[in-house]
Amino acid sequence: MTTSIPPAEITVLSPHDGTPVGTLPCAGAEEVREAIATARKAGRHWSRTSPEERGRLVRAAADALAQHAEELAALNARETGKLPDEALGGVLAGVGTLHQYAELGPVHRGHALRGDALATDYTVAEPRGVVAAITPWNDPVAVAAGLLGAALVTGNTVVHKPSERCPHTGARLGEILAAALPDGVLVTVTGGPETGRTLAGEAGLDVVAHVGSTATGRAIARAALDTGAHVIRENGGNDPLVVDDDVAPAWAAEQAAIGAFTNAGQICTSVERIYVHRAVAEPFLHALAAEARQRNREAALAPLVDRRMRDAVHGHVCAALEGGATVLEGGEIPEGAGSFYPATVLRDCTDAMQVMTEETFGPVAPVRVVDSFADGLYLASRDRYGLAATVLTGRIAHAQRAIAELPAGTVKVNNVFGGAPGGAAQPRRDSGAGFGYGPELLDEMTQVKVVHVEMPSSG
Ligand code: NAD
Repeated sequence: MTTSIPPAEITVLSPHDGTPVGTLPCAGAEEVREAIATARKAGRHWSRTSPEERGRLVRAAADALAQHAEELAALNARETGKLPDEALGGVLAGVGTLHQYAELGPVHRGHALRGDALATDYTVAEPRGVVAAITPWNDPVAVAAGLLGAALVTGNTVVHKPSERCPHTGARLGEILAAALPDGVLVTVTGGPETGRTLAGEAGLDVVAHVGSTATGRAIARAALDTGAHVIRENGGNDPLVVDDDVAPAWAAEQAAIGAFTNAGQICTSVERIYVHRAVAEPFLHALAAEARQRNREAALAPLVDRRMRDAVHGHVCAALEGGATVLEGGEIPEGAGSFYPATVLRDCTDAMQVMTEETFGPVAPVRVVDSFADGLYLASRDRYGLAATVLTGRIAHAQRAIAELPAGTVKVNNVFGGAPGGAAQPRRDSGAGFGYGPELLDEMTQVKVVHVEMPSSG
């Protein structure tokens, strides 16, 4: 058996032109253990700090992040290629999330229970201990801020491992937030998958919260069987879009394009596969190809995060073309530097194609024509992922049926990215387990103790 030596450092290349952005070290086992020990030590005081004070400090950390929003957004845009406005939007979303948890933490409470008249019975939500937050690159500040905010405000301490595709953004985020918090409460370790694996396998952890791919989430869940850590997994998706026969094809195409091409398709809830009713299929496909063409003509898309990602995306597209799909727009790797990929529309896709069965995570809209809305729902449901799903329909009966039948954590009707604040869902099947967002994340980060108190017997 050959064992490969883990890399000592990570170098990030610009997705725009391939020039180096910077190099950071990969934390090894010793540094990871030190980070956990530091967080554990800091937890002794932090877990006993009043929730109100913790909220105040998390609010101060949010304010510090707001002051550095432009700097962090620029760094993120350089490392991951995210469009500048969207990168700034992600940082500001992170600020908002930290503020929200700063408010919610102090009012996160237990219940009064009904016991004997002279007894007191209640529940308390206690911090779990040390949380490992292992995060991805596609919206690095917003995603990390959620996990960190919920963990910290409930009295846990955190070791954060940002993605190797944006380690400078992660490290700088850690510096900014940690400066507003007591020493050791938030520790950041940089590194690649090996550092993540080492961290997730450490016995001294109480929670491993992972946002990232399904394969990694599975590996983390397996490791936690040995360590006993509580695992929260927000993983990949293969979200379907079902288009009914009564909707305006141009509007449906616009929705499909927003869903498939925003952030070059690198969003966990991107539209990954489309089932369109035969009655509107031709005008829908025509309009969707036009949406893609316009984006390509205006060079409106961000690049993919790196060439490894581009090869994977193009691999899905090529396999679909070999399997009989037809390309209406895009589908070719452009010449030149960086890792750009065009908005791509494929028709005649079949259920067996990887582009339909797997998360492509690129700006690809694969379309399959169906004979009825019911067929679309059936195919949308037959998948190993269960993150989110959207239907476009003017019929209440069809919408209700979709809501009842789609096996996904989130079902959206008539808006691919619709949703209200705090609408955290439990991803299903291979998309993960537990609440990774919203007020319920405070429950995930705590454990409930039931207390019963009564008077001693007088004799
Ligand atoms: P990834 O799982 O490869 O990486 C995420 C993190 O896990 C990184 O920090 C990485 O270093 C670490 N890691 C990798 N292998 C590991 C291992 N064996 N043990 C421990 N840690 C390990 O995911 P990615 O490519 O960075 O992100 C893209 C994926 O994330 C997509 O599948 C996307 O759908 C998913 N995602 C999901 C959500 C959600 O809320 N469901 C949000 C954003 C992204």
